[in-house]
Amino acid sequence: MQTTESVPEANVRPIAETNLTEAVRRGLEPAEALSRLGRFGRNELPPPRREGWFHRAGRQFLEPMALLLLAAAAVTWFGLGERVDSLAILAIVSANATIAFVQEGKAANALEALRKMETPRAVVRRGGRVEEVPAADVVPGDVVLLTAGDRIPADALVVDAHSLEVDESMLTGESLPVAKDPGAVRVDGAGTGEQPWMVFSGTLVVHGSGATVVTRTGADTRFGAIAKGLDEREPQTPLQRELRRLTGRLGAVAVGVAFAVFGLTMLRLGFTADGAEQAFLSAAALAVAAVPEGLPTVVTVGLALGVRRMAGHGAIVRRLPAVETLGSTTVILTDKTGTLTENTMRLDSIWASGCFAGALENLPDAVADSVAAVLALNNDATIDPPTGDPMEIALLRGVGRERCERIRAGSPRLAVVGFDSTRKRMTTVHAFGSKALMTMKGAPEVVVPLCGRIMSGADELPLTDEAARAALETAERAAATGSRVLALARKVVDTVPGDPSSAEHDLVLVGLAALRDPVRPEAGGAVAEAAAAGLRILMVTGDHPGTARAVAAEVGIASSDVPAVTGSDLRAAGIPDDPLSASVYARVDPDEKLALVVALQKRGQVVAVTGDGVNDAPALRRADIGVAMGRSGSDVAREAADMVVTDDNLATIVTAVREGRGIYDNIRKVVEYLVAGNLSEILVVVTGLVFFPGLGVPLLPLQLLWINLLTDGFPALALGIDAVDPGLMARPPRPRADHLLSLPKLGRLLARAVLIAGAAVASLMIVRFAWHEPWIQARSTMFSVLMTAHLLYAYAVRHTNGGRRVRWNPWLLGAVGTGIGLQVLVVGLPALQPVFGTVSPTLREWALVAAAGILPALIMTVWRTTGRASGGRAA
Ligand code: ATP
Repeated sequence: MQTTESVPEANVRPIAETNLTEAVRRGLEPAEALSRLGRFGRNELPPPRREGWFHRAGRQFLEPMALLLLAAAAVTWFGLGERVDSLAILAIVSANATIAFVQEGKAANALEALRKMETPRAVVRRGGRVEEVPAADVVPGDVVLLTAGDRIPADALVVDAHSLEVDESMLTGESLPVAKDPGAVRVDGAGTGEQPWMVFSGTLVVHGSGATVVTRTGADTRFGAIAKGLDEREPQTPLQRELRRLTGRLGAVAVGVAFAVFGLTMLRLGFTADGAEQAFLSAAALAVAAVPEGLPTVVTVGLALGVRRMAGHGAIVRRLPAVETLGSTTVILTDKTGTLTENTMRLDSIWASGCFAGALENLPDAVADSVAAVLALNNDATIDPPTGDPMEIALLRGVGRERCERIRAGSPRLAVVGFDSTRKRMTTVHAFGSKALMTMKGAPEVVVPLCGRIMSGADELPLTDEAARAALETAERAAATGSRVLALARKVVDTVPGDPSSAEHDLVLVGLAALRDPVRPEAGGAVAEAAAAGLRILMVTGDHPGTARAVAAEVGIASSDVPAVTGSDLRAAGIPDDPLSASVYARVDPDEKLALVVALQKRGQVVAVTGDGVNDAPALRRADIGVAMGRSGSDVAREAADMVVTDDNLATIVTAVREGRGIYDNIRKVVEYLVAGNLSEILVVVTGLVFFPGLGVPLLPLQLLWINLLTDGFPALALGIDAVDPGLMARPPRPRADHLLSLPKLGRLLARAVLIAGAAVASLMIVRFAWHEPWIQARSTMFSVLMTAHLLYAYAVRHTNGGRRVRWNPWLLGAVGTGIGLQVLVVGLPALQPVFGTVSPTLREWALVAAAGILPALIMTVWRTTGRASGGRAA
């Protein structure tokens, strides 16, 4: 990392392109580029091969649970000769497989859509004009221009390089940047990392600039060759891994219980071949019913669809695990321009030669000319069409298009030391008759000390300490109103300095320029929403402390009388133990920003950081959530980030936190719903076997499978894509160590399972012992109660908002409604009764099913509401 004083030699970029041939200076003609696009194809990697639907469908039948059921169907057919039962089991296996197939398809589609969301761009020279095109349109022969921060779009030959350095670690694993040099001696058979005359697709420019001619695109590039060999499967998030482990563990428990059930059933039915077959079927059905095998897929669907919703709001997630971390974010480190302000800069006022002016024309001519020269020359932007940094575009607009063109044509640029946020200034050198003109613009505290004279009308006077102080005070006052202030300087030199940064002294202070950048109207609301959600927002900016404080006060991050901590404070006193003791950090370098992130993380904070420049990459990588700016950010920042915000807006980041919390919340609902619901089935079977010998098999295998089919599939999927709870942002962030299934949570889920199972067993006892109906009648009622209670339990897990209404979920209503409707058919339709072992319920039994089915969800909801009201932890 550079210090302010080290000379970034690598950043010096002589502009003269005399060594380039005319062909390279013109680039391809647009028509030729188009025809080559047809010939060579788009510069993209072929999409990863997706598993065919036939294969995917077949795989559903090879899952362990499906195999177990197929074995059960075979036993029923060949062992017991029960054809109808066997066919029913087969139908259930098929229905389960269909649900899994649909869920997987949804997950795959959603993930694919995510992959397509980012469209990289490239800067090419075509027909003599520089233009930005989608990277996919780059063709062999195209002249691609590179600057620091770019991702290289194709393999290309370097024809011009100015301190060009490229990070090729994604191809070579070598983390040090490689210097590129078109004149390097070429060696046959050199490896990827040993070719200074080439750049490769997918690698990143970290320094300097250059021009290249594309040699290979798309799958023909080195990157394409590597990508072909890679496993295309999406990596799993920690949450997905946790859930897979959980499903595995529940599977083990289920197998254990299944063995016990097998033994107990044999005891009940006697040690006969028939008994053994029945016992096997019961045990197998229970194992299948108890394992929430759909859980990992439902979670993937929830994650992927949530991420798509976030993209709709302008937050593109580049790494899926970020979604989980978003929900537990406690601090957002945000910069200022673009995130809190609109980044629609306007030149507001100019101070030169002791005059204040709102516009150039109000200054005396000689003064206006000097100011206009620095503004037009020390500038990488263009007005027509507007390209480049919005601040520089604003400066050009202040000068006017024609005047800019005249000034630029009269003094072609010979060298430049580009702006970087550590140096906080930019320097250019131009032809100036027989001499050279050096111009500089940058932060006043940086530029003024480099000046030895000051413009006064057409004259240059020595810059006294008093005059320097007056200039800085003027800058200070303008900054305190929220303006961004630049100091402008120039000097005439006899020869073009070989290294312009070594000649940055004894300049002539020309004046100050103040720019206004209005605060985004939504910024205040986003800051307030974040505060309500227990999130701290720290402003960490490279801008002046006065500007930073004024903007922070306007959006409500801190009041304007609280001083900002500056980069020099941090260098003098070190990074504070608790960076949260201040809210505004100004004139901060990227490496100090990184140190702030580390200090916050040491205190247990989960940190999101915004960034746009090449120098921000380490902080973005280190942060728990690195957020790159989509509009103003460099490709390097994007590559380092977990999330890209397309409109650079803080409000979008806060929305992403809300969505992140919502996605996690939905996953929690699915886990609670499936785990407690499936546990209740185990409890019913075991209780039945142990306490009610007369019942024989407590629930017939087909009944268990039926419950599993209707409760585990669609209701879980519907919960996974549930609407975001409006009360989410009134809660504090979720602790990072908070696991979906900690022991206390498992305890609470067990309590709910007992409640559901209790309602089912109670109904059995009422029908059998109070109403003296036969066991088959009692079992039939228990079957319906268990089904209904499990389905309605979905509404209890949804109810988490402490009184605020959650938007209704038509999918859930459909899934639960269909489930209950089908259950009514299965017990009520005489044709289906023999298949499912049910009998027609009497009227009071229908009533019992309704009451006992609703009761558990009702108790849980009341329990939760009163638990919250009394401040206790609700179940
Ligand atoms: P923000 O938080 O507002 O986005 P930042 O952290 O990105 O700010 P920098 O862009 O690093 O801040 O700018 C730091 C300072 O450098 C500015 O206050 C300004 O004085 C100066 N500066 C910014 N851009 C340029 C430029 N293109 N040329 C010269 N000086 C610049």
